[in-house]
Amino acid sequence: MRALGVSPVLLAGSAPRYDLVVQGGRVIDPSRSVSERLDIGIAGGVITRLASDIPESDARQILDAREKIVTPGLIDVHVHVYDGVAGVGIWPDKACLAQGSTTVLDAGSAGATTLAGFRSYVVERAETRVGVLLNLSTLGLTSMRELSSLAYADVDRAARAIEENRDIVFGIKVRMTRDIEGGKDLEALRLARQLAENASVPLMVHIGVASSPVGRFLDELRSGDVVTHSFRARGSILDASGLVLPEALEARQRGVHFDIGHGAGNFSFDTAERALEQDFLPDTISSDIHSGNFDGPVFDLATTLSKFLHLGMSLEQTIACATSTPAEIFSFPEPLGTLREGAAADVAIFELAEGHFELTDSGGATRSAARKLVPVTTVKGGVVYPR
Ligand SMILES: [Zn+2]
Repeated sequence: MRALGVSPVLLAGSAPRYDLVVQGGRVIDPSRSVSERLDIGIAGGVITRLASDIPESDARQILDAREKIVTPGLIDVHVHVYDGVAGVGIWPDKACLAQGSTTVLDAGSAGATTLAGFRSYVVERAETRVGVLLNLSTLGLTSMRELSSLAYADVDRAARAIEENRDIVFGIKVRMTRDIEGGKDLEALRLARQLAENASVPLMVHIGVASSPVGRFLDELRSGDVVTHSFRARGSILDASGLVLPEALEARQRGVHFDIGHGAGNFSFDTAERALEQDFLPDTISSDIHSGNFDGPVFDLATTLSKFLHLGMSLEQTIACATSTPAEIFSFPEPLGTLREGAAADVAIFELAEGHFELTDSGGATRSAARKLVPVTTVKGGVVYPR
């Protein structure tokens, strides 16, 4: 069983002050260092009050969150939701919103030639709030060899696409893998960095086994950029002896962020354990959810967060990596990843289940965890999404 349902209770009475009250949960909002039992009052699609006891008579609808964890709607900065177009796309409302992620960034499924379709068929139709990290390649991920020719790295075309779609493009994505042959990976990375520079948005770089060593990629990155797949098995931020690369430490000093991007092939418990032993924690935790890992080993972002709880990060640290920190890195036009009054009423409710849970990484290695975050109900813009 994946979750327990919470049934909204409709109350009689006239002119209640709140459309919805999320009642009695343990609220964890790292944006304001809140971690306590609170009620959340929602009116007009925004959060209007956090208080220890909002009278039930003030509520049109109540969500009973007692014994539950209540967080800002999660922000998953690496997903693939170009369902039907990019090879591994999955519909975001099923894979993200229903699992507690109210805001997601599609990491490179769309390129300049396929962005208009992404807007029409995904951004405008999904209930999930979907933003784009535009692929350097005009093809996006209609091909998984999107940079097999640098002719696809059409920086002028990508720059025009960004200018015309500022409301949905929040960064650039480039994948550094063997798909880039003959040492062209660094050339592609520099083109992507230049594109990001000119557009004043962050660059997300997928690291892995490529023509050049990871350290060379890290040296090219600047403050605000994001490294994804940081804790993969090979081609990670560790050297051959398991020590964090000096280039990664230097990049972090410069303000480069390190993301997880679990995916089907990009998260290793061994790597994560070695990195955390060296106090190298992730800045953001993302799922890299797509059609090839939704049935495991990823399942959802909450399961990825649970892996970091198991690895010893606190609930507050873990939730920050999928709420307040992504909101600081990407320039969203409204306050997200926070439960502060006036923010969009995006709220995620989880059960922190206790027992024995087998968690699996991308290589099939398992760990037995004593706790697991299980999505129960999501609220986006004040609207309740029961599972
Ligand atoms: Zn990905």
